[in-house]
Amino acid sequence: MQNGTKGFVITIDGAAGTGKSSVARELAHRLGTDCLDTGAMYRAVAVLAIDFGLDPRGGEALALAIREKGIRFDWNDDPPTILLGGEDIARRVRDLDVSGVVSIVAQQPEIREVLVEQQRAIRELHPLLVTEGRDQGSVVFPDANVRFFLEAEVAERTRRRVKQLRDAGNTVQDKEIQLDIESRDKLDSSRADGPLICPDGAIIINTSSLSKEEVVSTMESEVHSRLQA
Ligand code: C5P
Repeated sequence: MQNGTKGFVITIDGAAGTGKSSVARELAHRLGTDCLDTGAMYRAVAVLAIDFGLDPRGGEALALAIREKGIRFDWNDDPPTILLGGEDIARRVRDLDVSGVVSIVAQQPEIREVLVEQQRAIRELHPLLVTEGRDQGSVVFPDANVRFFLEAEVAERTRRRVKQLRDAGNTVQDKEIQLDIESRDKLDSSRADGPLICPDGAIIINTSSLSKEEVVSTMESEVHSRLQA
């Protein structure tokens, strides 16, 4: 990233398995910025609900519990480790039971309000930021310098998520992962608050037949042309 840049926010939104997390991390490395995984924050709330026996639909009680426990990142790690009440939950947030309730938790307006506030506070502390999620360019940072929206076919998204989970040592069936992706797509796109949409002015990239390097290089050249403009 150019010297003297006061602040520069790049948002990457898209559905599960479009490759957001891995391209966001690589783009942030290339540009020398920090990288925020907002999905991990919603997953941390799902962990809070499951592990502390709270109703995933109880937005008010969960929002209070988030403020009491605290969801934070350890920015000394790469990628930053997600912490719940100071405890490392980076592995726990990827478990299938967490994926199963995260989109229910993410529908609750009280929870979105708390997390959106925290994401904006993170931006203040990390002014050079690549941030990824579902609502980053549309709701959280509509003033972002560059907005991307990633798309990919369901079959390819399933293949990637299955590989990711198996590489991490999980035993999963293709069908259960496809169902998880389709059900989250439905909930994420239909909710009233912060639905998954393509943000105004976003650069759309279909990643189905592109490698991670190709996607990141496309993004990097878009960012450089915005910086020069
Ligand atoms: O990106 P990831 O698959 O980890 O996100 C998990 C879930 O968190 C999504 O399915 C969605 O329900 C929710 N989410 C959200 N808004 C974001 C990021 C994630 O609602 N900005």
